[in-house]
Amino acid sequence: MAITRDDVLSALSTVAVDDGATTLPGSGRLSQVVIDGGNRVMFSISIDPSEAERFEPVRREAEGRVLAIPGVSSVLASLTSERGPNTPGPGAPRSPGPAPVPPRQGNSLPGVRHIVAVASGKGGVGKSTTACNLALALRAQGLKVGLLDADIYGPSVPKLLGLSGKPRVIEGRVLEPMQAFGLKAMSIGFLIEPESAMIWRGPMVQSAITQMLRDVAWGDLDILVVDMPPGTGDAQLTMAQATPLSGAVIVSTPQDLALIDARRGVTMFRKVSVPILGVIENMATFICPHCGTASAIFGHGGARQEAERLEVPFLGEIPLTMAIRETSDAGRPVVATDPDGPQAKIYRAIADKLWAGLNGAPAGRAAPKIVIE
Ligand code: ADP
Repeated sequence: MAITRDDVLSALSTVAVDDGATTLPGSGRLSQVVIDGGNRVMFSISIDPSEAERFEPVRREAEGRVLAIPGVSSVLASLTSERGPNTPGPGAPRSPGPAPVPPRQGNSLPGVRHIVAVASGKGGVGKSTTACNLALALRAQGLKVGLLDADIYGPSVPKLLGLSGKPRVIEGRVLEPMQAFGLKAMSIGFLIEPESAMIWRGPMVQSAITQMLRDVAWGDLDILVVDMPPGTGDAQLTMAQATPLSGAVIVSTPQDLALIDARRGVTMFRKVSVPILGVIENMATFICPHCGTASAIFGHGGARQEAERLEVPFLGEIPLTMAIRETSDAGRPVVATDPDGPQAKIYRAIADKLWAGLNGAPAGRAAPKIVIE
């Protein structure tokens, strides 16, 4: 029997908040309730970061109440802070300038200041290449950076960073991240057989991402860049929910079709209250390796216009070059192996904007105000 939103709301109306003064649905803190075809239920509870500890028992109780509804197969309830780069949190005084994205608390990762998803509406737009070079460009700023390859459909970080083998188990079930070019890296590709065809169901996605986040000795990091699976389906939504993200970056190519998919990506993150830190246009122009002429093979500027339309920051454009393709496929990413070259400069400029956006400076246009239905 299909579970309805009303079933969930009625179960949640038994959860008291604010010392019994109201119920969870009545408190205005409940996000949209998402129920998929497998009767998996997802929702989030909006809090100020300072309330994380107080709301953890509420979150657990809410999860338990929904799980008790006959027919519900799994429940994912998370605490989220609505505060984006420009969005004051509940009760905060409205200020004209942007506020820094608060490091996540509660279910956040100890020692890791920011977790940022690099996502795309569809595969093949250069999301992994961008995530990897962006991580290296952040590293070049002197930041402590990790790269987590959560692309369950096609993990490519081992290849991009030239890594092979299995990570070392250090204590109990804790894994030591691999190291390459000054980055700490973990990939779903190290944990599953690359050729094994897997159908990823919501709870499996959640447990894989939890394992890679929590059972890895990341240590102190300024930023953990997460290479997300492409697309906007159930697995991606679960992952966006299960990861305590400070924000998300969407990579798109300039064609209309890719942009429609990118828009879906923005919508998906907004649904789960993750701020969009910006859009990157990849393969913006083709730079001829012989004469250096730039040609706009896929059109040009579409992602910038789309970012404006969606009122999210535009972080920059990366050309389609032989150097990026060859170094990526050879496991020698261009930002690390040609740090003074033109491509590295572009990735560094994007990384600067991204980091500035995370830390409160305006990164292009204003970030969106997240509206929870
Ligand atoms: P995705 O993660 O979106 O599936 P990848 O990062 O794996 O995409 O990139 C797909 C292919 O495109 C790879 O062969 C990669 O080397 C190449 N590629 C990505 N970005 C660029 C670029 N800016 N210039 C040249 N080749 C690129």
